[in-house]
Amino acid sequence: MKFEDYIMNVPNFPIEGIQFKDITTLIGDGEAFYQAITELTEFARDLKATKIVGPDARGFITGAPVAAMLHAGFVPVRKPGKLPREVLKYDYELEYGKNTLCMHKDGVKKGDRVVIMDDLLATGGTMEASIKLVEAAGGEVVGLGFIIELLELKGRDKLKGYPIKVLIQY
Ligand code: AMP
Repeated sequence: MKFEDYIMNVPNFPIEGIQFKDITTLIGDGEAFYQAITELTEFARDLKATKIVGPDARGFITGAPVAAMLHAGFVPVRKPGKLPREVLKYDYELEYGKNTLCMHKDGVKKGDRVVIMDDLLATGGTMEASIKLVEAAGGEVVGLGFIIELLELKGRDKLKGYPIKVLIQY
């Protein structure tokens, strides 16, 4: 399946100069969504993942179905103030300003083999923060999965040493 046929490019969204890659047209197509999740599931299964972690919000759409297919748990990574129990926090720099991501402290345990999934790899900042949270919890990050990678932003440079699966590259 040519997954790129199901992605819409939206120029100047959410701000001038950004080429937004809209995955709602892929996940809105039953067969394309199934095939994308199946490929990402095979990647995570080969790595013997025991947990799938996904950042808010499109990491939930990408990671949660994979977790269910594998009978593995799904663990959300979210902005501060959203998770109800004790969290681990990680602060990181954005191009303009800062961001913080959180994960429940008991979401990942020592010995867990974790695959982290998101819809899109841009600068890699979100994924790098998610890796730090999983490793701080004692989990082993065994792989990273994405639907889309924007090659020119070189996000991979921040993620050296981790196996990466991507369905579409631009
Ligand atoms: P980054 O942390 O820079 O790798 O950004 C990744 C996150 O930002 C992902 O969760 C994406 O959903 C979102 N994102 C960044 N750039 C785009 C884009 N051009 N189109 C759609 N989503 C994007």
